Amino acid sequence: MGKRLVGLSLLLLSCLMTMAGKPAKISLPLFMAWDGEGSFKAMKNDSAVEAYLLRLKRSHIDGLFMEGKPQFIRRIAPIAKRVDIQLHVWKPTMIMPDSVFMHQHADWYSVNRNGVSCVTKAPYAGYYRIFCPREKKVIKYLTKTYLEYAKIDGVAGVHFDYIRYCDIYLPKALQPKYHLDQTYEMPDYDFCYCHRCREAFRKKNRIDPITMSDPASSKDWAEFRLQAIVDLANSISGKVKKKTGKMVTAAVFPTPEMAKRMVRQDWGRFKIDAACPMIYNNFYDEGIDWIGKCVKESLATMAVRKDLHAGVYMGALPDPKSLQEGIESAMDNGANGVVFFTAGNLTDDQLKVVEAMYRKYAGN
Ligand SMILES: [Zn+2]
Repeated sequence: MGKRLVGLSLLLLSCLMTMAGKPAKISLPLFMAWDGEGSFKAMKNDSAVEAYLLRLKRSHIDGLFMEGKPQFIRRIAPIAKRVDIQLHVWKPTMIMPDSVFMHQHADWYSVNRNGVSCVTKAPYAGYYRIFCPREKKVIKYLTKTYLEYAKIDGVAGVHFDYIRYCDIYLPKALQPKYHLDQTYEMPDYDFCYCHRCREAFRKKNRIDPITMSDPASSKDWAEFRLQAIVDLANSISGKVKKKTGKMVTAAVFPTPEMAKRMVRQDWGRFKIDAACPMIYNNFYDEGIDWIGKCVKESLATMAVRKDLHAGVYMGALPDPKSLQEGIESAMDNGANGVVFFTAGNLTDDQLKVVEAMYRKYAGN
């Protein structure tokens, strides 16, 4: 065999090995649910946990986004593995209301257009203590936290939530609860005007945003903030994927357009494996068919391609018929799957619907 032929054979062999060794693309199962440590508090032993997970598994809830402390995730991961449920750690990203942490790191938090930090006064609700996305120590801290979770044996991925600014506009149906009628960008809910953000914007655009007479009309200022969240999401996602090979997903607002306008979250540009828009139709005074409309719009407008699992709110789809319509609306408009909020709220009748929908859509 000539030298050239040997070279070609080796090349061919290495190509074949690369193909064989390349891990198959892992994706989310068709049906998933959000769940948390609180659901398991009353369960005295592992067999109770296993029975709880098996009930979901039998109806083809094959994956969970699970919120909980590391020791809880470590405890539950082997049980989920045994039951064959894909386990992702669901961890809020920009919200950190722990009072000790907050006062130790007060400068990491965002500041509104009145110059008031959310450490001093939380917008909307007491837990709304939101980080500044331009503080490098925040990004470092979050990356470390997600990496720790991703490294837990049996964990398939990490799941971002609240990866955004404070709500400029609350969903329509929620505004009366806070005695608000949000027809413009109100300064109390307009973030972040901290020293970092103002200085970085001033350097780039030669104006301090807090001095602008109508900051809502500045496209540069809006884009500057959208970019901060996109950069943060992609930085953490990139590091988690590179160092662990695990999946990264996010709970996001119903469509990229709505997310940009309401919470400055341009999730269409997130480089993640899957987005799970929370298409909670009742929050927006919308019908069930709106779920499919949002799925369709999101698929058509997201700038970076990724899978889409539609998040549905069980309170908006309480009976089996409405749940079936919700799932069909999402799936018939191109969703890769559906995520239920929450696992603990699924009744036996609803699980029967999920099972029937699995037979209809699995393998499509
Ligand atoms: Zn800031």
